[in-house]
Amino acid sequence: MGMECVVYMGKVDMERQRPNVERMRILGARVEPALSGSMTLKDATNEAMRHWINNPTDTHYIIGSVVGPHPYPDMVARFQSVISEEMRKQLITLQGNPYPDYVIACVGGGSNAAGARRPVEERADCGFVYYARHFRSRSGEQPAVLHNFLQSYDSLSAITLPADNGTWSVVLTTSSRDKALRVLREPDRWHAALARYPLIAHWADGEPISGVDVMAGIEDRYRRLAIDGQPVASGVVAVGDAWACTNPSAGRGLSVGLIHAQQLRNVVREHLRDHAGFAHTWHEHTERHVAPFYRHQVAADLTRFAEMTALRNGQRPAPPDPLMVKVASAARQHADAFRAVLEIAFCLALPQEVFQRPAFRELVERAPAELPPPAPGPDRDQLLSLLS
Ligand SMILES: Cc1cc2nc3c(=O)[nH]c(=O)nc-3n(C[C@H](O)[C@H](O)[C@H](O)COP(=O)(O)OP(=O)(O)OC[C@H]3O[C@@H](n4cnc5c(N)ncnc54)[C@H](O)[C@@H]3O)c2cc1C
Repeated sequence: MGMECVVYMGKVDMERQRPNVERMRILGARVEPALSGSMTLKDATNEAMRHWINNPTDTHYIIGSVVGPHPYPDMVARFQSVISEEMRKQLITLQGNPYPDYVIACVGGGSNAAGARRPVEERADCGFVYYARHFRSRSGEQPAVLHNFLQSYDSLSAITLPADNGTWSVVLTTSSRDKALRVLREPDRWHAALARYPLIAHWADGEPISGVDVMAGIEDRYRRLAIDGQPVASGVVAVGDAWACTNPSAGRGLSVGLIHAQQLRNVVREHLRDHAGFAHTWHEHTERHVAPFYRHQVAADLTRFAEMTALRNGQRPAPPDPLMVKVASAARQHADAFRAVLEIAFCLALPQEVFQRPAFRELVERAPAELPPPAPGPDRDQLLSLLS
């Protein structure tokens, strides 16, 4: 490819692997010995990184092992996972199931072992884009919330979040694929849109302290360090956002992180010295007590995104889940049902726990299957003609 190739290698490793060094030289690479530290892989990586940082405009850094900063270990492990696919196929053919008794790998190099049992990761763009503006009041007061903090309107949602020192934010959320509504990034159009929603127009009654901040490309991400119930590693604990996170519009990330931290405390108390037991129990507690919050949020967001997509395409959105219609109806009519719904929204109880309570089920069964009247505001066509 006509590019200069410099390979950093620990001096000790160069001596140990002389034939490899000669082969790299024959193929045109310059092999630089790393002379610092233990003169092995870690030191060679440091030297290569140092060179890259000092020459960022004409140097590309590549590495074939799971060391160094993100995303390189992740990339290498992903490429190496073909090994695990192949092992799985061969195990099924040779012994009828994909479970080996042992995996023996040259962990010194790292990369093939990482690929052999790669943790599960789900990662997808949530599809929303936020148009946020921040305000301050002279009196230190926040604008009143006359309806909901987070309210869905046709193909747009709106939320206000109070902050300290008389400041707050107002966020308009749309589908990131909705090109027609991208004009909301312009402050005058943003204000013109907000002014048309009577219950929230006053959220902009303050001194703006930012332009319209646009945020997209937000991922729902979930990691599981166990495959088929078997931990891929012991001694590694992913907690809070390092384990899973969703787009932040429901404002539940901190609560979920704290619930996860409580679970960690419980598992540490009982299994700290039992590595395999710890990894198993941690996986089980996470799936049982915390993962349902993640799944619940992702499902709610997918439903809202599908609604926005249908409206953008001029179609009628799918009818809402009849059970959820009755739950919302019960919450409007009965304080106990309202409190129970808040327990789910604020992560005080899992949805399945609340749904198993006989008193709550009775209130829901008795509630009429009636949708609330839509909050006042323009529909999509009216909004687009206003913004055009
Ligand atoms: C725009 C936005 C708005 C949000 N709004 C809300 C809200 O209203 N309510 C709510 O509950 N949640 C909200 N969240 C989610 C919430 O912020 C997160 O769920 C929460 O902060 C996760 O906590 P954590 O401790 O798991 O991770 P983090 O808060 O990300 O903490 C991880 C820390 O580790 C540090 N770190 C990373 N790598 C290393 C390393 N190698 N060595 C040392 N340190 C390292 C990082 O610098 C960071 O300080 C929002 C998130 C975003 C992005």
